Amino acid sequence: MSEQALQTLAQIFYLVSAALFILGLKGMTKVKSAREGNAIAAVGMLLAVIGTLIEAGRIDYRWIIGGLIIGTIIGWIGAARVPMTMMPEMVAIFNGFGGGASVLVAVSTLYLLYLEPGRTERLADVIGGSSALTIALSILIGGVTFSGSLIAYFKLQGKVVKSEPVLIPGRHVINALLFLIPLAVGVWFAFGQLEPGMYALLAWVVVVLSLILGVMLVIPIGGADMPVVISLLNSYSGLAAAATGFVINNAMLIVAGALVGASGLILTKVMTEAMNRSLSNVIFGGFGAVAEGAAGGGEYGPVKSGGPEEAAMLLDAAETVIVIPGYGLAVAQAQHTVREMADLLEARGAKVLYAIHPVAGRMPGHMNVLLAEADIDYEKLLELDDSNRELRTADVALIIGANDVVNPAAEKDPASAIAGMPVIQAWNARSVIMIKRSLSAGFAGIKNEMFEYPNTMMLFLDAKKALQGIVGELKQM
Ligand code: NDP
Repeated sequence: MSEQALQTLAQIFYLVSAALFILGLKGMTKVKSAREGNAIAAVGMLLAVIGTLIEAGRIDYRWIIGGLIIGTIIGWIGAARVPMTMMPEMVAIFNGFGGGASVLVAVSTLYLLYLEPGRTERLADVIGGSSALTIALSILIGGVTFSGSLIAYFKLQGKVVKSEPVLIPGRHVINALLFLIPLAVGVWFAFGQLEPGMYALLAWVVVVLSLILGVMLVIPIGGADMPVVISLLNSYSGLAAAATGFVINNAMLIVAGALVGASGLILTKVMTEAMNRSLSNVIFGGFGAVAEGAAGGGEYGPVKSGGPEEAAMLLDAAETVIVIPGYGLAVAQAQHTVREMADLLEARGAKVLYAIHPVAGRMPGHMNVLLAEADIDYEKLLELDDSNRELRTADVALIIGANDVVNPAAEKDPASAIAGMPVIQAWNARSVIMIKRSLSAGFAGIKNEMFEYPNTMMLFLDAKKALQGIVGELKQM
């Protein structure tokens, strides 16, 4: 095949793969089609890789095979070993790798295409002005993504970097400089005249500044709000990839990067709205200090508590049961036991539905993934508004390891850390059963008055043990 024909073939692969990415993303917007969407996007990625290999022409496959083996081993071990509750950390580190890859590609493009002995032309004359500018942009965004994601990872772990916000005085001015200097370098690359060696030196300066900027942007944010930041960094990793696409003139990378950038931003917006934060808060940092007394969550008056037997009696008599899952369900890995209990209730003629809050758990879609694992019919999953409508007439709201997402303080206490966050109004059900191990607070670290409500029964047990107890009791009734 002629060189021209190969290039056309590569572009066709890119076009099909871009279409598959878009179809894949569309599939992922619905629980029903999410797996299919993921598979379609994976095929799109395979075609993009094949297209790139065709476009690159003759290359040394030893490097590719070596990279493939190392990457597969790291990815496989990481994905197989990570527990569901540590998924945000894994996403953080993988985003970071994406950003790091963009930095490496941009720097090596400079070395590969420009820096050779005896060079006298300007960088822009050799690779074009826009590619010269985007070398600096790609390093800047990629570097911020890399170091920011590492800090996010460590903050979530709370080990190497403390998870509380670290507010460095004058950080906005420092950040502005760290951002503007690389931009100025980019403009210089595009329009200025430099000694060839200076291009390399300035590229490394941008690498260092962008790594510092990534740390500076994430360090002021509390570990508690890190998942939102990770979603934003995910968006940045897409932008970095798109910038790299301009550097190496790869249309596929531009399209895929732009899709990641846009979808990451939309996800960030969905999360911030569900947590009642503003996006500018996230971008300018400094938010996320956990409320005072986070560990305790406040003093409680008398609360009514019961065991699996009392819970089973309430459930046995109920016509409509709304299950409200939260982070504790994921910790206890109780999804299969929920399913077993629901099957028993449905066999008795009860209607069992699931109220899913957009930020229940610790990552977007956390509850959907868990319930899908137990083959719970997605038709029974209600979004926030439908949940609140159903709850007004429900007999039992069964809260399993959820706390903040059902906290009435969001609606009733304007001074609360979660004031204004839309919540699931579990208290409107005739009876509320709340399964958790103690009176301790949830993620936001605040008191939940619903524990004291007269229609609430606390069931202080690990979620799985409590549900196993309820299942055992129901079987005997
Ligand atoms: P919460 O973190 O508010 O509460 C979870 C509750 O589960 C705790 O109070 C805990 O109480 C209980 N629990 C823990 N382990 C177990 C167990 N083994 N068995 C039974 N109960 C258990 O969870 P929600 O899902 O209600 O709310 C999610 C929070 O996370 C929100 O504040 C949200 O903003 C935040 N968030 C969510 C993100 C997302 O994308 N989903 C991202 C970032 C933040 P106890 O210790 O007494 O058992």
